Amino acid sequence: MKRTQIKDVFTGANYGDEITVCGWIKTRRDSKGGFSFLELNDGSCFKNLQIVAEAKLQNYESEIVKLFPGASIAATGIVVKSPGKEQDRELNASSIKVFGFCEPLEYPLGKQKISFERLRELAHMRARTNTFGALARIRNTLAFETHKFFQNNDFYYVNTPIITGSDCEGAGEMFQVTTLNLDKIPRDEKGAIDYSLDFFGKKTSLTVSGQLDGETWACALGKIYTFGPTFRAENSNTRRHLAEFWMIEPEIAFADIDDDAQLAEDYLRHLFKAVLANCPEDLDFFNKFVDKTLKDRLAKLADSPFKRISYTEAVSILEQSGVNFEFKPFWGMDMQSEHERYLSEQKFDCPVIVTDFPVGIKAFYMRLNDDNKTVAAMDVLIPQVGEIIGGSQREERLDVIERRIRESGLEPADYWWYCDLRKYGTVPHAGFGLGFERIVQFCTGMHNIRDVIPFPRTPGNAEF
Ligand code: ATP
Ligand code: MN
Repeated sequence: MKRTQIKDVFTGANYGDEITVCGWIKTRRDSKGGFSFLELNDGSCFKNLQIVAEAKLQNYESEIVKLFPGASIAATGIVVKSPGKEQDRELNASSIKVFGFCEPLEYPLGKQKISFERLRELAHMRARTNTFGALARIRNTLAFETHKFFQNNDFYYVNTPIITGSDCEGAGEMFQVTTLNLDKIPRDEKGAIDYSLDFFGKKTSLTVSGQLDGETWACALGKIYTFGPTFRAENSNTRRHLAEFWMIEPEIAFADIDDDAQLAEDYLRHLFKAVLANCPEDLDFFNKFVDKTLKDRLAKLADSPFKRISYTEAVSILEQSGVNFEFKPFWGMDMQSEHERYLSEQKFDCPVIVTDFPVGIKAFYMRLNDDNKTVAAMDVLIPQVGEIIGGSQREERLDVIERRIRESGLEPADYWWYCDLRKYGTVPHAGFGLGFERIVQFCTGMHNIRDVIPFPRTPGNAEF
C-alpha cells in the first residue's frame, strides 16, 4: 500500500492530489447533511487530518458510522481546501477501508481527560494520546540531535558493555546478573556464594555507567561518546530517578575540566536550539497544556552562556541566602536537590556549572586538585530539573589513582586494566554523563520522569 504520512499532507501535498492516508480515529462527527467528519492521526505529526466521508460511500452505513475513537483505517481521496478555520486542507474520501474497529465502551482512551498516573497503567496505549505522541517525537529529536552534535564534532560512537564485572565506582546500587539456581545456590567451604560456578565465572551486574570502559577508548580514539541504557537499583521514588535510564557519556582525551564544561554547555545549547527548530507544534502543545514557561525558557537558555562557580562559592551563596533549607548547607555536604534548584532558579536563573567538589563526596577517578581537598568534578544544574550532568577530569597519575582507589575501600588489583591506562602513555582526559530522560523532562516541561520514557522501570514496577 502506498501511503502518505499526514505530516507530508500538510507540508507536501497539493490541492487535487489523490492520496491514501492510514491512521487511528481521534473523533467522528456526523453531520445532518449526510456525511461524517473523521479526525485521523497517524503519529507522524501532532495535527490530525480531517477526512470527509460522504453517505454515498458503499460502506457508510455498514462501517463508517460505527467508527469510534481508536479505530484504524486507510482513507483514499482527494486533498481539497477546507472550509473550516481549523485547517487549510482536508481529505475528500472516495473509499475508506477499516482495519480494526474499536469498542467505544471498552476503549480506555475515550474523549475524557485521563491523569498521567492512570496513563502509566495504560503504558501500552498511552503513545496514542496527544501528550505521549508529542513526547515521543521530542525524545526522538533529542536522540538524533545528540548523535548529530557528537558526530559533527568528530566524536566516535562507542558501545560499552551492559553486563559488567567491575563493581563500579559506587555510582549507585547495582542489579545483579546471574544464572545460578536461586533455589540451590552453590557455596564454598566458608559458606560464601561460589561465583566461579556462575555464568561468567565471577559476580556480574548491569552497568551503572559506561565511563571506565569509555575512558579506555577515548585514550586511543581521542573523542568518543556512548549512548546506552544504564541501571541503578536505588530505591528512590522521586520524580527524577528511574531504575533503568539512558545515559550519554562523552569522553575526551587531552582535555581538562574547563574543556569538559565547555563541551557540556555546547551540547546542551545545541539540544535546546534543535528542539525549538524541529518540534514547533509539539512544543506548542507542551507550552499550552503542561508548562507555560517552556518555550521562553528554552529560547533563553539556547542563547545565553551558563554560569560557572566553584563548589566552595556555591556553598557560601547557599549559606548566605537566608533560605531555610530542609538540609542546612555546609562545606563538605553533598548538594541536595533544593540547593541545586535554588542556585539555578532563584540565584542565577540560568544553568549553573559547579566545579571542584570536596574529595570526600566524589568518586575515586576524579582528578585531585593541588589543594588536596577538592577534585576536578563538575555538576551541571538546570532550572526545574536540578542535576542534569555529572562529570570530571579523570585522575591520570598512576600513584594518585592507586592511592585514591585504596582510600575508597577498593582494591587497585580489581581495577588493573583501568590502572594500565595510567601506566602506558597516560594523558589528561575528561568526560561527563548526561541523563537522557532528565533532558527530555526539561525540554517538555513534564513533571515526572516516569512520563518521558515509553516504559518506566521503577521500584515495584516492571509491567509491560
Ligand atoms: P542524582 O544525584 O540526581 O541521583 P547522581 O549523582 O547519582 O544523580 P551521576 O552518577 O552523576 O548521577 O550520573 C550522571 C547523570 O545521570 C546525572 O547527572 C543524571 O542526569 C542521570 N541520572 C543519575 N541517576 C539517575 C536515575 N536514577 N534516573 C535517571 N537519571 C539519572
Ligand atoms: Mn552526580
